Amino acid sequence: MAEVSLRKLRKTYGGVVAVEGVSLDIARGELIVLLGPSGCGKSTTLRMVAGLESISGGELFIGERNVTQLEPKDRDIAMVFQNYALYPHKTIRANLGFGLKMRGIDAAETVRRVDEVAEMLAITHLLDRKPRQLSGGQMQRVALGRALVRDPAVFLLDEPLSNLDAKLRVRMREEIALLQKRIGKAMIYVTHDQTEAMTLADRIVIMRDGHVQQIGAPLEVYDRP
Ligand code: ADP
Ligand code: ADP
Repeated sequence: MAEVSLRKLRKTYGGVVAVEGVSLDIARGELIVLLGPSGCGKSTTLRMVAGLESISGGELFIGERNVTQLEPKDRDIAMVFQNYALYPHKTIRANLGFGLKMRGIDAAETVRRVDEVAEMLAITHLLDRKPRQLSGGQMQRVALGRALVRDPAVFLLDEPLSNLDAKLRVRMREEIALLQKRIGKAMIYVTHDQTEAMTLADRIVIMRDGHVQQIGAPLEVYDRP
């Protein structure tokens, strides 16, 4: 059974269609990349899955649950943003633990999970710092860590590497691929970068003008004219 199921998702803004008829089943352990030019509807689709945008039509399932109308916090999902979205005045430890605290996880369990994820991402030495004392790559690790500590069924990543320089982008890309294999969750990854899509994806969804144009394994979609 699919871990995530998008069924004919549709989004309109004041009568203008931004996304239409997007259907997609994602299995546990599968990394799906939404690829396409700016404005084709990748981000809107991801934000509907996250619950950051209301869904104008169609349905969204996480496991067997219809979550179409649920608040972001009630979907078993965590999202990583391009701009990291860290709290500037909190330490890295507090940034990592904040989402757990909000969800009523106790302090000891929060410490345990934050330590575990920090070790996984090699950021243990940064836990007492504030975001402004970190490099871009370090902040991106923290942003990933904040999603990981929540241990959701589904990870959403919106252009997570586009603020990094080319070298770091390649390294983080490899790390995300390894991490994905290790945690084995469903992941939806948005990018306009074809190389990123080709190297990371189990399947690529090519979007154009708010529609799905093609879905397939990287070589399948790449080989076709
Ligand atoms: P992508 O992520 O592929 O760059 P988006 O999902 O951001 O594309 O945008 C898809 C379409 O929806 C675009 O035509 C965009 O202008 C439109 N759109 C996105 N957000 C809004 C909004 N808040 N209000 C009106 N139109 C929007
Ligand atoms: P949590 O760690 O529980 O996700 P956050 O305080 O980090 O809590 O975020 C709360 C919610 O705020 C997110 O789930 C998301 O809905 C929204 N949010 C946070 N950062 C951004 C951002 N950069 N852009 C858009 N929405 C955001």
